Amino acid sequence: MMEVLSPNIERTFDQCAELLRDLTFPTVAAWKQEHPGAKVIGYFPVYAPSEIIHACGMLPVALHGAGDGLELQHADARFGSFICSIVKSTLELAMTDRLAQMDGLLFSTICDSARNLAWVIKRNQPGIYVDFLHLPHNPNGTASHHFLVSEYRRLIGHLEELSGNKVTDEALRNSIAIYNENRRLLSRLYDFRMEHPERLRTWELYVLMRAGNFVPVETHNEWLRGVLEELPGRSGKKRDAIRVVVEGSFCEQPPLDLIKVMEEAGCTIADDDFILGRRWFNADIPVEGDPLMNMAESYQDRSVYSSVRHDFRNPRHKQLLEKVKHAKAQAVVFLTAKFCEPACFDYVLFKKELEAAKIPHLPLEFEEKAYTFDRFRMEVETFVESLLFE
Ligand code: SF4
Repeated sequence: MMEVLSPNIERTFDQCAELLRDLTFPTVAAWKQEHPGAKVIGYFPVYAPSEIIHACGMLPVALHGAGDGLELQHADARFGSFICSIVKSTLELAMTDRLAQMDGLLFSTICDSARNLAWVIKRNQPGIYVDFLHLPHNPNGTASHHFLVSEYRRLIGHLEELSGNKVTDEALRNSIAIYNENRRLLSRLYDFRMEHPERLRTWELYVLMRAGNFVPVETHNEWLRGVLEELPGRSGKKRDAIRVVVEGSFCEQPPLDLIKVMEEAGCTIADDDFILGRRWFNADIPVEGDPLMNMAESYQDRSVYSSVRHDFRNPRHKQLLEKVKHAKAQAVVFLTAKFCEPACFDYVLFKKELEAAKIPHLPLEFEEKAYTFDRFRMEVETFVESLLFE
């Protein structure tokens, strides 16, 4: 199991990138071998209550499609053409037995495509536990907290049955504390990148964060602490570049090479919404008190904005402006998955707000399976030059 990363920080990032490309989930297989009988729950983005899965003695594994590593042979016949890549490639993973190490799959109410995927997988994979978490969409009042607590309790009932383990309040508090630590460490890395982008490139931060999807959170915490210790001694060369915020990649993830191309073409990414579920909460979930109510309140009231969670109290387009200001960014790059409805709908609102605030933006559309990026490079270089030499 890749529990120990190279002490060489450059090699660490390369190891994480290798892990992302490996569709055999080697770290998950190793974990199962080390924990005979223990169960693994794969969850579809964006948010999943990993704390609950962890408290049940299970390994939560975030699924982020298959990138360009898989030819679609089954999924195209089960979904229409105008569906994002991650939905199809996740179904293909399931139908080619590549998710065989998952004892259960968890989905939630992020969009129609994800909802349909849950039921298509359930129908095509009758031997696996598939669940669907209903997340509240009305933030007014406390009814949504109670609704979410009841959903958490329903999920716990199923997970207890599957794992044979009881979820106690104490176990939940312990898991919450460990995941709080994970989010704090990631937040420190994001702060470091914002301050010293030449010493921690975005693709490095991205692979380090995403590799955490495949290992126990305790292991990931060790990795993050190790990198945080090394970073102050790292040097980097400043380049002519514009500072940007990347928005729209909260669910399907862009190819790693596309992130590298953006950086090479002159974008210093000061903030982003990659793999948003790992950084869902913008404050610790309280450890004292009722753990499920604390989680539900945090989901609703102490979380980041997202195109898949409605919050009329804090409009997303206003929060994007805040993000740009905080990151001292000159522009926004919308890096959205093709056919991603939540991202496309929000682009209209975001665009209006950015234009009113005279903040330039560049819309780019990707598919996870893309592997040539010449057009992207040209578009980004043209955009960067237009701002550098205006
Ligand atoms: S990429 Fe967009 S449309 Fe596709 S599953 Fe995710 S949120 Fe839904």
